[in-house]
Amino acid sequence: MAAARKTKGKTNGKKQKYSEADWQTRVNLAACYRLVALNGMTDLDATHISARSPENPEHIFLNPFGMLFHEITASSLVKLDLDGNIVEQNEYGLNPAGVVIHTAVMRGRPDLNSVVHTHTRAGMGVAAQKDGLLPLTQTSLRFYGKLSYHEYEGIAEPGEEDRLVEHLGTNSAMILRNHGLLACGRSVAEAWLMIHELEHACQAQVDAQAGGNGNLHLVPKEICESTAQQYIRFTGNKIPGERAWPAHLRTLDRVDSSYKT
Ligand SMILES: [Zn+2]
Repeated sequence: MAAARKTKGKTNGKKQKYSEADWQTRVNLAACYRLVALNGMTDLDATHISARSPENPEHIFLNPFGMLFHEITASSLVKLDLDGNIVEQNEYGLNPAGVVIHTAVMRGRPDLNSVVHTHTRAGMGVAAQKDGLLPLTQTSLRFYGKLSYHEYEGIAEPGEEDRLVEHLGTNSAMILRNHGLLACGRSVAEAWLMIHELEHACQAQVDAQAGGNGNLHLVPKEICESTAQQYIRFTGNKIPGERAWPAHLRTLDRVDSSYKT
């Protein structure tokens, strides 16, 4: 135990630049990029995941544009302010659409500290459907009555921020119509769980629609409502995703621990 503490407290040249709290957030965010890659949820370098700096809530971290998700490390993440200005110079720039989406949500929702955006096949498939996510599976019911929709306006550019925030409202997950998925959390762990569950629900929907002649069995409305309440009741005051987060980090450590450098 003493040895573990000593190792944890050891600093290297890169880590000394950051506070302990910021460094931990960077490590968790880099881990989330690796998990998205490991789970086949990337679109090359075209999507983005952010986390808010615990040091300064006006600062967030985003991926260096041009690095693939499986390459991202804690120290390679780019720090920017909520106006989209890079705070620490980096050899890589930022994806302009990512800046629009993430600064909008982080500015509009100070209760959220992490945002994940994906362009997966299943996510885009459901995002292209008029009725959006259907109450077909238990997993989909986590989002029952709590899923927002944002109309497609083209590749995100400055000017779209207010509508993104307005459409997200008080929810933590949103389907970007004809585009992809967005999931948020109070922590990186929660944002990862939410995007994983939303992705899983979309995959199941697309799978169900691909078989059985499209004759789908929807969960009755009253069961949808009571199951959504069960999700709230069973979670209690815990932040979803936190319990299994150390296990996700252990998985990454077995695969490639360079995310935490
Ligand atoms: Zn996108």
